[in-house]
Amino acid sequence: MNKLLVLIINDMVIFPNNEVRIEYDNNYDKQMVEIVDMINDNLMLIVNPIDEDDISLTTFPKYGVLGRLKLKMNVPNGKTRIVIEGIERVKLSSIVEDGYHYKADYEQVTIESHEEEKTYFNIVVKSLETYITKVPYMSNAIMSQLNNVETLDELCDLVVSFLPIKYEEKKKYIVTPDPIERAKYLIEDMNKDLKLVELEQRIENEVERELDKTQKEYFLREKIKLMQKELGEGNNKETEIERLTKKVSKMKCNSKVKEKIKRELARYETINSYSPELGMVREYLDWMTNLPWNNYTKDTNNLAKVKEILDSSHYALDDVKDRVLEYLAVKQNTNNLRSPILCLVGPPGVGKTSLALSIAKSLNRASAKISVGGINDEAEIVGHRRTYIGANPGRIIQGIRKAGTTNPVFIIDEIDKMTKDIKGDPASSLLEVLDPEQNSKFSDHYIEEEFDLSKVMFIATANYVEQIPYELRDRLEIITISSYTEYEKLDIAKKHLIPKQLEEHGLTPLQVQISDESIMILIRNYTKEAGVRELERTIATLFRKIVKNILLSKDVFFYDIDEKLIEEHLGKKKYIYTENDKSKEIGVVNGMAYTVFGGDILPIEATLFKGKGDLILTGSLGEVMQESCHIALDYVKSNAKAFKIDNKLIEENDIHIHVPEGAVNKDGPSAGITITTTLISLFKGKCVEKDIAMTGEITLRGRVLGIGGLKEKIIGAHRANIKKVFIPKENSKDLDEIPEEIRNDLKFIMVNNYKDIYKALFK
Ligand code: ADP
Repeated sequence: MNKLLVLIINDMVIFPNNEVRIEYDNNYDKQMVEIVDMINDNLMLIVNPIDEDDISLTTFPKYGVLGRLKLKMNVPNGKTRIVIEGIERVKLSSIVEDGYHYKADYEQVTIESHEEEKTYFNIVVKSLETYITKVPYMSNAIMSQLNNVETLDELCDLVVSFLPIKYEEKKKYIVTPDPIERAKYLIEDMNKDLKLVELEQRIENEVERELDKTQKEYFLREKIKLMQKELGEGNNKETEIERLTKKVSKMKCNSKVKEKIKRELARYETINSYSPELGMVREYLDWMTNLPWNNYTKDTNNLAKVKEILDSSHYALDDVKDRVLEYLAVKQNTNNLRSPILCLVGPPGVGKTSLALSIAKSLNRASAKISVGGINDEAEIVGHRRTYIGANPGRIIQGIRKAGTTNPVFIIDEIDKMTKDIKGDPASSLLEVLDPEQNSKFSDHYIEEEFDLSKVMFIATANYVEQIPYELRDRLEIITISSYTEYEKLDIAKKHLIPKQLEEHGLTPLQVQISDESIMILIRNYTKEAGVRELERTIATLFRKIVKNILLSKDVFFYDIDEKLIEEHLGKKKYIYTENDKSKEIGVVNGMAYTVFGGDILPIEATLFKGKGDLILTGSLGEVMQESCHIALDYVKSNAKAFKIDNKLIEENDIHIHVPEGAVNKDGPSAGITITTTLISLFKGKCVEKDIAMTGEITLRGRVLGIGGLKEKIIGAHRANIKKVFIPKENSKDLDEIPEEIRNDLKFIMVNNYKDIYKALFK
């Protein structure tokens, strides 16, 4: 038989048929457990040394327990939690030292049956019954387990594992194989404890009469201290309890919460230091005592001041700021709890989060930010119940704790990116959080006590309005922030990003000068985005390199950033917008798209070859876009005569429509008129100028319907050097939103029916 590894335990006893959880943090044991985990059916020998300070081959006890490692997991505090099952009492022999560990042989302990066993069995059960009824801290859970016990040997092991006696006392039960001997020990130990309990009760009765309530508490506390000392439990817990008790007495929370904390604290005091429950209760207390139950900041009521701060932190966005101020004014004036929740919607990097943070600052409120993007489990919002392993409060309570006040500005990012699945619907949990009628009594599953969220100012952000869950959208006041034009980006860079980055890099405007042209190079050739986040990062990279150079070569103190220097530090240009009109082709027409980078042009290509009128579509087109292709082709077919197209050309060829870039998914109906124009260009063999772009949905009868995202698309088209755009007449109302410098630079042609486009391009 192979020798087994020996696990030496100095503070607890594992009995046969008993399962114990232990947490380790020392490396020696960790290493040992790792080995056991890998070998020998996870078996090991568990030994309680006679003298923990003198462990050697000669001082090992004769008996130990054969045990099996049932579970091993690493827990977050760097400890390892294991579950060990005791199998049977064994006799150890041939103990050897193997590296850092001990190994030993073992054999089963044979127990001779004895006539007196039955009598002892009955006496132990009876004593146990009396013991349980008299000793208040003894649970009667053990009684139900007695039914499964047949021999005195098993009975003794079961009862002693429940008995609250000292480790030193317990040890003797392992090294005593004779069950009758053990039964005697048990009866004696229970009797001793009973006498003690009776004595205590007598004292307590007397004391109760004499002492008033506070003194009694003091007495009990002292008693617990004594008991803990007796049990050898550390002082850490004691000081922790003292600290928490002091903290609770000063806490400004309602009495129900206070009571709950006190109750948990009392429980904490009584939990055995070895129990994994201790950590869980401590963590709970940590949360409860660190939540801002009643800690308000006072709002600034001066709207002019708020405006000043918003203006100084964010360029332009006048409409947005106005709407924010209106919202705040109404809220202040009516104190209406039912006012909707602000939701800032726009592409990434346009300042949604930073604006919300500025609102917090301007109102003199703390702020908290969470992101709900990608979450599919409502426990992320409302927490896990405490019984769950590794339970935590949800993100709302986590945010509140970070903010440290009861009324922060609470930013919920990416509410359009939540998903729904079997784990529940986080959107409906979020709805409860945002609903002023319910959120004063918000209940997190972990915290269990109600937390008042009604004074929190929630601000949500999203990229796409359409993707916000419908039920939430209803509660939101949507404020749209759209892409910035190049000129707006230039201004933001000059007034905000560059000064901010200079300061962050310890540079002065005298040391680093950067012309408008150079900033434009950064905007056009090094970034492609709707907002200014990448631009800010690019400026930061540039400055970082400059700081390094200044520090390394001590003779250059001054930098004038020009194209050459930019290329030197940031590498070759990443994005280059070519002049379009040089290479016009048959069967290629510019559409317009709205992507996460803001607007862009989207060329659509078509070609034909011998076949039988089939339509081939490529370029990751969504269902709606595929339908648009069919509608466009059918419209062209049915109007072939009017467009002077030879029907045979359509019938005797296959037609292939492709939208680059093939790997990017595209969908929506707004490419309808572009696809139609591409097909007509192809069939008529006529080019469409490359500085023309168009967007609009087409019906089978050739009507042109309105589309969304016009502003973004026009800004994108302008950036790509488009000069003339065809847009649906329905969208004329949106033209006001387009920045003037861009509107003046482009020619707009409003169309109601496709015939108008045909006339303008092909006649
Ligand atoms: P979003 O939340 O919309 O993705 P952020 O709020 O994170 O964007 O903004 C990214 C960066 O751009 C921030 O540093 C912010 O200060 C800056 N920024 C965006 N818009 C403006 C603006 N109008 N004026 C000044 N800085 C801006």
